[in-house]
Formats: sequence, structure tokens, C-alpha cells
Amino acid sequence: VGPVARFDERDVVFARNRSLRPGSREYEHYYKEMRPEKEAVDARRRERGGPLGKPGAIDGGYRPNVAMLISSFEVPNILGPHAKLGPAQAAASGTYKARPEENPQQLDPERASAIVKGWALRLGADLAGVCRTNALWSYSHRGEIHYGNWEDWGQPVPDPLPYAVVIATEMREDMVRTAPHTPSVVESGYNYARGAFVTTALARWFAVMGYQARAEHNRYYESLLPPLAVDAGLGEMGRHGYLISDKFGARIRLFAVQTDMPLAPDKPVDLGVEAFCERCLKCAESCPSRSIPRGERTEVNGTLRWKLNEETCFDFWGKVGTDCCVCMAVCPFSRPNRPIHRIVRRTLQRSNLARTVFPHVDNFIYGRKWRPRKPPEWVQYPQAGR
Ligand code: SF4
Ligand code: SF4
Repeated sequence: VGPVARFDERDVVFARNRSLRPGSREYEHYYKEMRPEKEAVDARRRERGGPLGKPGAIDGGYRPNVAMLISSFEVPNILGPHAKLGPAQAAASGTYKARPEENPQQLDPERASAIVKGWALRLGADLAGVCRTNALWSYSHRGEIHYGNWEDWGQPVPDPLPYAVVIATEMREDMVRTAPHTPSVVESGYNYARGAFVTTALARWFAVMGYQARAEHNRYYESLLPPLAVDAGLGEMGRHGYLISDKFGARIRLFAVQTDMPLAPDKPVDLGVEAFCERCLKCAESCPSRSIPRGERTEVNGTLRWKLNEETCFDFWGKVGTDCCVCMAVCPFSRPNRPIHRIVRRTLQRSNLARTVFPHVDNFIYGRKWRPRKPPEWVQYPQAGR
């Protein structure tokens, strides 16, 4: 629609909370020179313990579930230092040394894409696609500091490597439908761990094949993943700001690996999401913090989309101590991947009438208002079902 400016990672709410320590040079620079209007709201959030507040607060901090969340988030933390890889790093740190004279291994791009996607799925991804990268989807400056590398804060993020493999992992429906209670955030944590494993293994595969790679997961991002996933044909953006995929709807988490291995890109898909969202509004009506717009899409930084109020959304996370997930759970596209739902999704791709009628059908069957369902027994918190 218009010119797009690269997003600054220093503005990411988690980066602000984690990397801006009161009294530090980063804190002074950000709140005095860049975004003075954010200082008060961030200070309040920091006092509450960060964007997630007191983990699991909505379920009385039920410790088994909170411990599942915390322990699975440790996996990306452990793998983060291995996100940027090339043949030299693979040769230096691998058990089986890559032989430099064999680098890089030449493959036909079609064949390379088939191998990479197949390997990603085998490693544990549920969806995989390939795209050419677009520098506009890369962050402009580094803002997240996880490993004491403070010299990186505020440094420009380089242009991306030319290709990306984008992967999605499925959030299980029986966990997501408990949103905003702790089983849904347990599922998020598990998926972040899974994505970190898949992308780290895949990045190392590229390195051993003689190429550069960057694993993008919860402890290392260079890009905005939703637009990258659209380019890789994994789905379309919904009103709630999540990517909606064909098989799992919005019940997914996204990850990516950038590489300079020549690959054959996939094409964006048309699932009929835009027309459906125009009539549906279910996420906007169910959002406990009223953060999802009810009107038309608007131009935001050069692209036409529904713009979430992230600040009020994160304030709600801070209250409940989970990542909420209500909008992901209530979305009609997030229904279980059963034959009947597959038929509905196929019909939506072809019929405008279906896009008008199905929002009402979904309300009739599943109800218009969101109510959390009972969790699986093993993750049941004491108050569940009361
Ligand atoms: S709940 Fe409805 S309006 Fe919201 S993203 Fe899903 S389909 Fe679109
Ligand atoms: S995560 Fe929750 S609070 Fe945030 S937009 Fe979705 S429903 Fe609203």
C-alpha cells in the first residue's frame, strides 16, 4: 500500500522488559531519546514481574503447570547461542567435522526444498514452506539481549540471507481450548521448545552442507515471522493478528531458518480468510481486553491490516499470568483438523456464500461467546471445572 519501514526490535514489549534495566545506558537511550511515552507503562509492567506478571496467576499459580511452562522455555534459552551458524562453526563444534573441501554441497533448488521441508517435518514441524526473504520483514535494530552481549543492543540488523524455511508447530486443540488458563500457556511453552529444537537442527544441517544459516526461535529473532510465513505459503493473517493456516487455523507457533542455500520458493495461498474475518468478528467480541479491532483493515506501516492494541493485550497477559490465547482458541479456523472441518475449509476457499454463512454456523455450533473448556486430566488445575 505504501512504503514500509523495518520494525525496530527495541520496541518489542519483551525486549523492553528484559533488556532495558533502570540506570543502564540502554534504558536512558530508549526512554529519553526514543520512546519517552513508554516509560511509565513499562515501569508498571516491570513492577508486576514483566509481560506475564505472576505466572499462572489465573489458576492460583498452580505449580505443576507453571513449572512445565518455565522448564520448557529453558530449551530455547539453552539453544539460543547456537542460532547463527556457518560451515566454520559447524566444523569447529560438531562431533563429526564438516570437510571444507566438500563445501558447499550443490543441490538442485527444487530437490533442496523437498529435502529441507521433509527433514523439517521429520524433526517435528507440522507445516513447512520456503520463501525468498524480504529485508522489510527483518528488524532494523537489535533490541533483545539474552546472553550479556550488550554491545549488540541498538546495532543495525543485517539484511537477511536470501531464503527462509518457515515452519509451524501445532498447538493441541485440547490444551488451547482451556484459554486463558495455564494449560494453554503450557502448550505455548512446549511449542517454543519444539520450534527451537527443529530450527537449531535444521540450521546446523545447512551449516554442515556448507551454507550459512540463522535459526529464528524464541531466543533469537531477526525477522517478523507472520509476513514471512505468508510469503512461504503457510497461511493468511487473521483479524486477531495470528497467522491462520489451512490445517490448524491459528493454533500454531511460527519459526524460521534463514539460509543462503538456493531453494525453490513456495507461493502465498488464498484460504478465504480476509472475507471470512470481515463478517466474523468472533475474536474481537471474545477478547477480554478489547484489543482486537472490530472495523475495517487500516494502513499500518505501509500494509493493510487489522491492528491489534498490543499494550492492552499484554496488560491482560500480566493480569492472568498466561499468554491468554483466547483469540486463537475462539477462531473458527482453529477447530480440530477433522474431515468435516477440512470440507468446510475447502468450501471457504471456493465460495463467497460460504464465507458469509459459516460465521453464523460456527456461532450456532460452538456458541458466540468464549468459555474455557475443561483441560486434559494431567494438566488440570485445582479450580478447573468449578
Ligand atoms: S475469529 Fe473470526 S474474525 Fe477473528 S481471526 Fe478468526 S475468523 Fe477472523
Ligand atoms: S491474546 Fe487475549 S488479550 Fe490478547 S488479543 Fe488475543 S484475546 Fe485479546
